[in-house]
Amino acid sequence: MTAALSWKPALPVPDLRGRRVTARCHCGAVELRLDLPHGLDRLRRCDCSFCRRRGAVVASVKLAGLDVIRGDTLKLYTFGTHTAQHHFCGTCGIYTHHRRRSDPTEYGVNVACIEGVNPSELGEIPWEDGVNHPSDR
Ligand SMILES: [Zn+2]
Repeated sequence: MTAALSWKPALPVPDLRGRRVTARCHCGAVELRLDLPHGLDRLRRCDCSFCRRRGAVVASVKLAGLDVIRGDTLKLYTFGTHTAQHHFCGTCGIYTHHRRRSDPTEYGVNVACIEGVNPSELGEIPWEDGVNHPSDR
């Protein structure tokens, strides 16, 4: 008999307000520095055709709050209107960040790439309605 999945209680989001943190892809070829004045801001998942496959938990960072420290292996993927720019490591395949379509003054970042962040400890993550995207209304 297999043990039932045990659901962790919702724990507080790590308080990263005002912190400068490092985010890396899995192989380490891509390294980002993030300024998080509001901590892990607007944590969410999205069910658009792309994000539902990618499955990442995302937070928002202003464009000026993200520096690519190392990025030689970064690849770019766009689709549809080609407004959103999805960046991932061409070596290990991990999605690191994307320039948002609904707010191009921001990046969405893969919070699982941030040092010390474990998505299983973030509690319940709200879903964004990517099927009915604000830019398509
Ligand atoms: Zn990598």
